[in-house]
Amino acid sequence: RADTKAILLEINKAAAQYFYVQLLRPQGGHALTYLKDRKLSDDTIKAFGLGYSNKYSDDLYKYLKSKGYKDDMISQAGLISIDEKYGVHDKFWNRVMFPIMDVNSRVIGFGGRVMGDAKPKYLNSPETIIFDKSRNLYGLNRARKSRKPYFLLCEGYMDVISLHQAGFTNAVASLGTALTPGHAALIKRYVNEVYLTYDSDEAGTKAALRAGPILREVGITAKIIRMEPYKDPDEFIKNLGAEAFEERIQKARNGFMFSLEILERDYDMTSPEGRTDFMKEAARKLTEFDEEIERNNYIDAVAGAYHVGSEDLKKLVGRMAVQTG
Ligand code: ATP
Ligand code: MN
Ligand code: MN
Ligand code: MN
Repeated sequence: RADTKAILLEINKAAAQYFYVQLLRPQGGHALTYLKDRKLSDDTIKAFGLGYSNKYSDDLYKYLKSKGYKDDMISQAGLISIDEKYGVHDKFWNRVMFPIMDVNSRVIGFGGRVMGDAKPKYLNSPETIIFDKSRNLYGLNRARKSRKPYFLLCEGYMDVISLHQAGFTNAVASLGTALTPGHAALIKRYVNEVYLTYDSDEAGTKAALRAGPILREVGITAKIIRMEPYKDPDEFIKNLGAEAFEERIQKARNGFMFSLEILERDYDMTSPEGRTDFMKEAARKLTEFDEEIERNNYIDAVAGAYHVGSEDLKKLVGRMAVQTG
């Protein structure tokens, strides 16, 4: 098994090099143009080892065979599918390729993006014995070397790459999956603070609200940065630039206060009844802080933000705690 792992890493490395070479050859011209249109520089493309998988359905397979790798290993690496009727096919075909590396910069898998509107937009390597999606973060091999005491945690490959290119070399992304406790533990090895920069859509907002407590669980402070009016960090940076992004970092909101802002949407905040019901729900949420000092600090913060008396809110939280047991 140890041997198998070493071989799979070798195969992935060879594949990444192959994809990179294809990007720079004439048949990869449209892929290179695609990346340039997305404002990536040559240095960025090289630093992240971006590549191109050819239009032929067994191009990479033939190359890896010529290097002496066995079908079984190439298949275990997740790079081909073997079908009795249709033969062997490359998994990635005519896509821009993003090698996924572990903390030690070893290639453990790939993401591949179509250049048009075809579906699926991204195709990712399956999990293998060297690729555990819940224990790896895209960009971590570079972000760990950043001197910032926090990470920027975003959703996608392009977000990480654009942020690094703009000088935010502390950006990482979970690989198209929700943040797991495994990710949180991994982050905790490097920083104690995370700024969540998820997409502005409903899915991104929900993901940010769910990520906060998972990070908190391992002792990481989470703050939330919003990307409105843009869809995600990649688009934000392209339209407003690095300075505007830096301002958003400065204005980041604490996860709990952000969750209250989202909660406001469910109440009529212009009526006394609506505000009262909202405050009751906010008080119920405040009961979830087990640590008394932390709970009291949040009670003060909420009281200040919503213009109610701290002592009144504290009493309400006490009553809610009794009710919810
Ligand atoms: P782009 O800017 O290239 O359009 P994005 O990163 O903004 O891509 P999102 O749709 O926001 O794309 O998705 C975020 C991340 O989720 C992607 O970077 C990718 O890792 C993953 N992902 C997106 N679509 C799929 C899919 N169809 N299958 C698997 N993973 C996906
Ligand atoms: Mn998204
Ligand atoms: Mn995007
Ligand atoms: Mn996005």
